[in-house]
Amino acid sequence: METYQLAQESQLNDLLHVKIHQYKQQNDGECASYIPELKKADPSHLSISLLLPDGTHYTAGDHTVSFTIQSISKVLSFITACMHHGIESVLNWVDVEPTGDSFNSILRFELTNQKKPYNPMINAGALTVASLLPGTNDNEKLMNVTNLLYNLLGKEVCINEKVFMSEWETAYRNRALVNLLAENDLLAGGVDETLLTYIKLCSIETSVHDLAKIGLILSMDGYDPIEQKQLIPVKIARLSKVLMFTCGMYNSSGKFAASVGIPAKSGVSGGILASIPPSTRNLNVLSQGCGIGVYGPAIDRYGNSVMGVRILQDLVEQFHLNIF
Ligand code: GLN
Repeated sequence: METYQLAQESQLNDLLHVKIHQYKQQNDGECASYIPELKKADPSHLSISLLLPDGTHYTAGDHTVSFTIQSISKVLSFITACMHHGIESVLNWVDVEPTGDSFNSILRFELTNQKKPYNPMINAGALTVASLLPGTNDNEKLMNVTNLLYNLLGKEVCINEKVFMSEWETAYRNRALVNLLAENDLLAGGVDETLLTYIKLCSIETSVHDLAKIGLILSMDGYDPIEQKQLIPVKIARLSKVLMFTCGMYNSSGKFAASVGIPAKSGVSGGILASIPPSTRNLNVLSQGCGIGVYGPAIDRYGNSVMGVRILQDLVEQFHLNIF
């Protein structure tokens, strides 16, 4: 068994390079354009980073290219709000139900007598969660999430000001959404402060390596195996993974769960955070669990990286990583 494991480990790097090369040729999807600054990304970029609990790190493709975290921040703000208020209080404000609607839909407010946003992984829920973050203004709220990131990554993160301004100036739909939330008493803070907080969170600059580290910590139920510290309470880490699994890929979450089958969260800039739990079903180099970050800014109509999803699906199949 040991020999098999070592053989796979040494081949994993080569394998990732081959896969990145293979999927780069396909060139499907387009960069998001509703945030003008995101349109400037190079749609041919594709990268992956994979981190094991013992700190072994594999990477391939354009992994030095950074990008804004966008909707992946929804996981981090949900964790921060839960760590501050407790899960129960946060779930008084936001549900845990998938919607089947696009991430920025305002449909439900008119169609149903909605008592709270469906889940924290769509914009409505994330705006409510942003309003719940501890702090008396948008910068303090933002700082509480970047403090969590500091603990997870061991480094400061920064905001991409260009992307922030680009979204702030064109956030017509999120402005509508945040106003509807306020009208329905679903915000714990002011409209402008909440929208500012939310857009700043989306504009945090990140990399596939950061995403792999966050994915690894989530896969270990909040424990950082490298620093040997529990950074997120177990229950909050597990609930976050449930939300990633059921709602993390927008209105293709069901399809992603069926065809790939791992907890993941995507962002419109093309990043995907994936968390692979340890498994005893198959023994291979990834059975101990791992975190994966992928980046490919060409997205599909749901807002998910086309090549990112394909490469994840391929790896999951090859290493039997699906959780069901
Ligand atoms: N900032 C983006 C928005 O709210 C994030 C959406 C996303 O990544 N799907 O529109």
